[in-house]
Amino acid sequence: IRLSKMPSKKTKLFMASASFLSTIGKRLEGKVAMVTGGASGIGEAIAKLFYEHGAKVAIADIQDELGNSVSNALGGSSNSIYIHCDVTNEDDVQDAVDRTISTFGKLDIMICNAGICDETKPRIIDNTKEDFERVLGINVTGVFLTMKHAARVMVPTRSGCIISTASISSTVGGAASHAYCSSKHAVLGLTKNLAVELGQFGIRVNCLSPYAMVTPLAEKVVRLENEELEKALSTIGNLKGLTLRVDDVAKAALFLASADAKYISGHNLFIDGGFTVYNPGLG
Ligand code: NAD
Repeated sequence: IRLSKMPSKKTKLFMASASFLSTIGKRLEGKVAMVTGGASGIGEAIAKLFYEHGAKVAIADIQDELGNSVSNALGGSSNSIYIHCDVTNEDDVQDAVDRTISTFGKLDIMICNAGICDETKPRIIDNTKEDFERVLGINVTGVFLTMKHAARVMVPTRSGCIISTASISSTVGGAASHAYCSSKHAVLGLTKNLAVELGQFGIRVNCLSPYAMVTPLAEKVVRLENEELEKALSTIGNLKGLTLRVDDVAKAALFLASADAKYISGHNLFIDGGFTVYNPGLG
């Protein structure tokens, strides 16, 4: 196609359809998302997938180098920013939300994902109060603060979507850490309670509950390297031979954040290959 200085009607029509076609299949076009823990693992995968689907993404984390490199990979300042934000510090969380809005004009989607798991001490007797409180500080207080400041800016606009990352440990026992299991039950509780409070404003609040997958968090807990861990994970669970990956969790987050999930709120979406319904004891 040869473009003259003043595009003809035909060319204009072609350009408009080309730009329309490039947005087809993009499910978050025009949306702005903030992802806590977006520098690594599940949060990084969500940030990347949301960007591919047209969203502007703020990555909030404490790993500055990794966070900046994820943001740069998403095209830098016009599409994505990195913000240093310790989710246990309310000033940091408030500032991250406000900077997201001053940079991109609004906040449509909040992903409360930052989390840790402490070292495996399966016997409660071996756990200290400090071990327990550290995990709850990040996994529960951090999610509470992130939800609180998302609600602060979403309620006046009467729109928005909040998604937390819990775990199968939101519902079943058997986790290697008592603190982790308690924290994920609490994340589900916060999610449900907030869904009830914010439904009147058209704001949806949902929870992702994945089974285990290879990320720095999981490698640290089970002390297995990438391939070894992946092999071990593929032998457990209901879907034999299939292994859960961060991209699978990101796709579930995309669904919950998209208009396809417009009537879904207060839901705990398991991405666990049926693990939580599988009971080998029942013949
Ligand atoms: P990860 O370690 O790759 O990512 C966690 C991110 O959170 C890191 O970038 C880390 O820097 C950040 N973070 C930690 N403390 C923070 C704080 N105080 N403030 C801000 N950011 C902080 O781990 P992941 O596996 O991607 O974990 C993400 C979430 O998914 C966690 O909530 C975790 O509990 C949950 N989850 C993980 C698995 C798994 O098997 N990997 C399974 C179920 C649920």
